[in-house]
Amino acid sequence: MPGNEEHRRGAVITGGVVGIIAAAGLFHLYGNALASVGVLTAFFILPAIGTDLPDTDSHSSLPRKRLNHLLIGVCTLGGAVVIYRFRETLISAVSSWTQSTYVAYQEYIIIGAIVFTLFLAAKAGVPKAVQAVMPAHRGPMHSAPLWIGTFAVLGVAGIYYIPFLSIQSPGLPEAVFGAVLVAPLWGVIDHLGRDGELT
Ligand SMILES: [Zn+2]
Repeated sequence: MPGNEEHRRGAVITGGVVGIIAAAGLFHLYGNALASVGVLTAFFILPAIGTDLPDTDSHSSLPRKRLNHLLIGVCTLGGAVVIYRFRETLISAVSSWTQSTYVAYQEYIIIGAIVFTLFLAAKAGVPKAVQAVMPAHRGPMHSAPLWIGTFAVLGVAGIYYIPFLSIQSPGLPEAVFGAVLVAPLWGVIDHLGRDGELT
C-alpha cells in the first residue's frame, strides 16, 4: 500500500497535470490569465490536502495526526474565544469561590491557566473521540471524502450550470469556482485510485 509520502507526491503530480489542462482550457475559453494562474495554483495545493483525507481513518497515519492537531487547535481556540467573551463572569465566579479579588495581571493568569487546562483536555480527549468515530482503517470513512466531495461538486454544478446548459456556458467566476472545488476532490480520487479502491 502506498504510504503518505507516495500518496502526496502522486496527487501533486497528477493534480498538476489536471491543473495545467484546466488552466489551459479556461484560458482558451475566457482569455483571463489571472484566473488561469489561480486555478493552476489551486491544483498544485489542494490535491495534496485532498489526498490526506481518506487515511485520517488510520490510527497510526500522518493524516490522522494532522487531523488531531487541527481539531485540538480548533477546540482550544474556540474555547479560548468563549472564555474571553465571558471573562468577567468567570473571574467573578473564581473570586467568590476563592474569596479574593484579582487585579488585571492576575485575571490574565487565571484565564491563561483555564485555557491551558482546556488545551490539555483537548489533547487527551480529541484523539480518543476521533478514534471512536473512525475505529477501523479502510472502513466506510476511507471513501467518505469521495462521496462528500462528489455530491458537493454535483450540487454546485446543479446550481450554477444546469440552468445554463442549453443556453450558454457558465461565466468565468462559476468556472473558476467549479475548478477550485474539483481540486481537493482530485486528491481524494488519486488516493483511492492508488489504493486500488476505484476498480
Ligand atoms: Zn488509503
